[in-house]
Formats: sequence, C-alpha cells, structure tokens
Amino acid sequence: MAWQTLFAQTDRQAADASASRGWTAPADTFSLGVASGEPRPSSVVIWTRLAPRPLQPDGGMPAQAVAVTWQVAADPRFARIVQQGVVVTDPARAHSVHVEVDGLDSGRTYHYRFTAGGLDSPVGRTRTAPAPGADPGSLRFALAACQHYEQGAFTVHREIAAADLDFVLFVGDYVYEGPTHRRLRRRRHAVEVEREYSLALYRIHHANYKQDPDLRACHAAHPWLMTWDDHEVRNDYDGIHNTEDDDVTTAEFLKRRAMAYQAYFEHLPISPTRAPVGPDAAFYASYQWGTLAQLWLLDTRQWREAQACQSGIHAPWAGRLLWRCTATEAKERSMLGWPQERWLAEGLASSTSAWRLIGQTTQLSPSGFGTPFGPLLYSDGWDTFPAARERLMAAIAQPRVPDVVVLGGDVHRHVAAQLRLHPGDRSSPVIASELIGSSITSRGLSEALNQWMRSSNPDILHARSDERGYALIDLNAQRLRCDFRATPHPVKADSVLHTQASFVIDRGVPGPRRI
Ligand code: FE
Ligand code: CA
Repeated sequence: MAWQTLFAQTDRQAADASASRGWTAPADTFSLGVASGEPRPSSVVIWTRLAPRPLQPDGGMPAQAVAVTWQVAADPRFARIVQQGVVVTDPARAHSVHVEVDGLDSGRTYHYRFTAGGLDSPVGRTRTAPAPGADPGSLRFALAACQHYEQGAFTVHREIAAADLDFVLFVGDYVYEGPTHRRLRRRRHAVEVEREYSLALYRIHHANYKQDPDLRACHAAHPWLMTWDDHEVRNDYDGIHNTEDDDVTTAEFLKRRAMAYQAYFEHLPISPTRAPVGPDAAFYASYQWGTLAQLWLLDTRQWREAQACQSGIHAPWAGRLLWRCTATEAKERSMLGWPQERWLAEGLASSTSAWRLIGQTTQLSPSGFGTPFGPLLYSDGWDTFPAARERLMAAIAQPRVPDVVVLGGDVHRHVAAQLRLHPGDRSSPVIASELIGSSITSRGLSEALNQWMRSSNPDILHARSDERGYALIDLNAQRLRCDFRATPHPVKADSVLHTQASFVIDRGVPGPRRI
C-alpha cells in the first residue's frame, strides 16, 4: 500500500531522484507506449511501463526502484505545462506507472509524457470529461472489443486512433490466453498462458500485444474506458470457477486470477486506487459526461455464477451450447453479483442524464439457436442468466428509465437489437436498445450459424459475423447515431474499413432504427 501513498504525493522529488541513481534508460525503454484512461471532470489517469526488453520476464529493467517524471501540458510541445510530478516505480509492479492527475480543467484536451533515466517517452493525448451540469453538446466514442493477436492485424485501431473521439470504450477480451487454430493464424503470440502460466508469463503476454504499433497509437490518441471479459484470465471463467480445466482447484484458480488481474492492471491506464488486491479488483464504475450521458461500466466476470447444466454441445466457433435446465432458471442466479446488480439499479433509477449507457461484455438480447426442443443457448452469455436479465430489464422499466442503451462485445459480430421488458416475449414492450461493436480481429460465427441465430431472434435488427471492426457512436440531446465500421475477416495490415450499416436511436423512442 505504501506505493499508493507515494503515487499520491509529488513532494518527494529528492528521495525519488536517488531511486534511479546510476541507471540510464536504453533507447527503447518506452517501447510499450503511453496510455490514458478514466476521464472525469477534473482528472484522468496516465500510464506507461518501462520495458526496454518487453519479452523478458523483467522487461529488461534492473532489479531496483526507478524515478519517473510525468508532465501534463495544454499543448503538444509542452510550452504550457499545467502539472508535473515524480513517482517511483519498481519491479514489484513491473516498472509500470499509473498517475491519477487531478485538478485539471473540464472538457479539455491535454498532452502528457514521462521521463525516466534521461529519456523522454512518446507524447500521449487525452481529454477530460465535461463539468458536472454542463451540456457538452455531443459525445463521440468508439465501442471496441475482442482482439486475438493471432487472428489478424490491429488495423481497426489505426482508424480509431485517427478519429476525432472523446474516448474509446473497450469491453473485454483485450488479450487471449491461448493460441488459435493454425488455419486462422495470421501471426504468433510470443508466449501463451493457456496451460502454463505465471505472473511473468502474463506480463510478457501483455507486452507482446503492446508491441503492435496500431494498438499503441490508439492508446496514445484517446483516453480509454475499460472492462474485462474472460480471455484476460482464462476462456469462459466464472468468478472463482475455471470452467475449461476440471483438474484445477478453486484455490489454484484464484492464484491464477490474481496473476492475470495484476498483469492486466500493470499494462493499462487504470487508476492506482483500483489496483487489484490478490484475486480481487474493484472493477465496476460509473462515468458522467455532463448532462448528456451517464455510463455504467460493468464487471460481468468476477462475481458470475458457474456455467449451468452439465449437458451441452461443443459447436465449432460457437462455444458450448445448451438447452435450458433447472440451473439456468434458478431465480437467485446472478451474472453481476448482488451488490453490483443493486448499484446499477439504483444508479439507473436516480440518473438525470439525457442518455443512460450500460457498458458490459456480451450480448444481452436473446441470441439462441431455435430448435424444436427450445433454443440452444450460448453457455457463456446472458441467455443462461434469464432471471438476472429479467431483473435488469425490471430496473429499466420500473420506474421507467428512458433512453437506456446497452453496449456490448464478446460475440464477434455487429449487432443492433431492441430490448423488451421480458426478453424473448414478443408481446412485451420494447423498453431499451442494444448495440454491439463486432471485434478488432477475433473470428465470428460462420454464415450458416449467423443466419440460424438471426432467424431465431426477430428482436435482432442487424447481425453480421463476417466482418471485424468497431461501432462509432455519436450522440447529442436529441438522438444517438451508430455507424458499424467494418472490414472483412481476417483483418490485414492494409485493410480499409467501410460503414456496414447505420442506426439511430431517437430520445424517448426505445429501439434502434436503421437509416
Ligand atoms: Fe472475444
Ligand atoms: Ca469473451
């Protein structure tokens, strides 16, 4: 905990400077780039990690503490520095640096950089949220998810980096723990953390992803708001349950979760106040964009109950599929855990923002495959948590919370859907909207499975699994517009994106409308 105290203080410069005495930074010390995140009206988190040899367990850093200077400026040339300070980092956190810079002006663009061992980092650009109560006029962001390094190039990030945005909303599968089938492989992970894992291996794995220049550029260009899904730890894990590997005890899995959470934190712009403590992390939060929007960013993994029903089919490219069983229907079954469910319901009911956005990891609207015995359900999605989904819809409906838009990922397809009070019941009213932003690289369902899924679920207004991309979302006090930016799978280094489809949601009228 002592380091968090240090992070909060900048008046220890003399002591800090001595921390790195004798160490001169090699030229590629900032090879993992810089990033910012969690924009709030007067603060933003800035990040870097010192790692001249990113694929070595120690990142090529000496086994000692190092002082790092940070600067935030109003201009990209750093003529008008508005804040600066010194922090000390060390091998216990892989020489990562997380500074929550406070006292900034609202709704402003800033530039930031770090200096360590005599070397300057690249410059990042970030932006604070509007002042509370202020009307910013508009909000524009990219909704992205799912970037298997082996399944394609991160060209989608190149377009996002160049776009004029307030932030990037990334809703999970930032790294994938395992390899991909040889037929789908476009490049190789440096290491894998599927069967053998350690904190050192998870660190190398994250550093490997950050070696991609388009991913680094996207972090340097915009602040990110992030939540995680399963692959940051292990495919389809549920809370304390390692679903894939039957031979692993809960105690062993929690050790693994702690390693994965720690490496994730060390490589991303997350507030130091949210650093994981062992296998636990305070990872859901709400963000406000003036009077225009409030965003609740959910953690659908850490408190999720175990997968239901032992039966099921392993379908190629669709994961485990199952029919409803006693366990899926249990009233008390929760995906978010009760404290998070209550926090979200209370937040929705008390919010006065024009738009209420819920950022979460997977598809909320029904997406099963119709069969004569009832729909076959994706075992890892909301379809196997029907009671929890009904509770969320009730929180939106009673009392009526208008203009709710649920934003998701995980399913590797662009989706626009209408959300009904009782999902799947065509006689119940549409009360909210859902948008999902395909994947950066990860492969989607086959065309046949996608067709089957679509024809089984008429509330899905749009679903395409054949293209990768992101959703560009632009909203003002009257309407929200979503452009599904897309490019065919697999994404190549020279792929170009196009608009696959566009939808609008008018204030006061739940449900997306194709334009
Ligand atoms: Fe994914
Ligand atoms: Ca996932």
